[in-house]
Amino acid sequence: MPDHILLLAGTFEARQVAERLAAMPPGVRVTASFAGAVNDLPDLGVPTRVGGFGGPDGLGTYLKEEAVSLLIDATHPFAARMSRNAAAAAEATGVRLLRLERSPWRPEAGDDWRHFPTLDAAACALPPAARVFLSIGRKDVGQFTQRSDLFALARMIEPPGVVLPDHWRLILARPAQAAADEIELLETHRISHLVTKNSGGARSFAKIEAARQLNLPVWMIDRPHLPPADTVDSLSALLHRLQPYFVGSA
Ligand code: NAP
Repeated sequence: MPDHILLLAGTFEARQVAERLAAMPPGVRVTASFAGAVNDLPDLGVPTRVGGFGGPDGLGTYLKEEAVSLLIDATHPFAARMSRNAAAAAEATGVRLLRLERSPWRPEAGDDWRHFPTLDAAACALPPAARVFLSIGRKDVGQFTQRSDLFALARMIEPPGVVLPDHWRLILARPAQAAADEIELLETHRISHLVTKNSGGARSFAKIEAARQLNLPVWMIDRPHLPPADTVDSLSALLHRLQPYFVGSA
């Protein structure tokens, strides 16, 4: 039985995992870790730390010093640096690693998707004067500002670190949950292309459904490659793996 589980958090799934880990029997210590990218961090019901570890070596040191025996990587599918660090640190220290990675979205018949390995490739390939909905996060939006011919509706949770062109529209909000709301947004701004990372999951899917209903092209940024790891794609599969540790819990 592990006496210290470190949960790399920052996603809705990680929040669900934390809720279940909070029910661990006494004697099992749980720590959830956030990068600290957003200010309104949720209360996960378990002790929490905020901020980077200092690369794979820093994480390895933390794993050893804090006697971590199980590392759960429940970070976002595009948080590739953290996932790579987790794999390297787990290998270096011999700590067991479990990765929770939600399945990617897949196109359906009739969908008009183009796939890109990077945001930069997508930005370069957009047709002149396209009107794009950028649903890609605050860190990456700067990759589109070089295209002065574009109009962009950019939505993100925290303000971007770069100055956006005056004629763009910035919305500071989490994704809408209803396709009808996303359709209204896309129509209001006469959007011609949706640019999004293939995050997967239900919580930011409404925009995909909206694009589908409006027959809009989706420029999909494919997921980064991660080192192999023991991976599950759902909370229930993860909990199944963790069952031995729940023995004795209420
Ligand atoms: P990242 O690029 O993989 O991580 C950058 C650094 O942040 C890591 O090297 C690590 O620093 C620290 N870090 C990341 N996750 C951490 C955690 N759970 N606990 C402690 N430190 C952590 O990941 P990112 O910067 O978080 O995100 C990259 C992209 O993924 C974003 O641009 C965004 O598009 C997407 N993302 C989306 C969501 C969301 O929608 N909910 C959440 C997260 C990320 P050290 O090397 O110092 O340890």
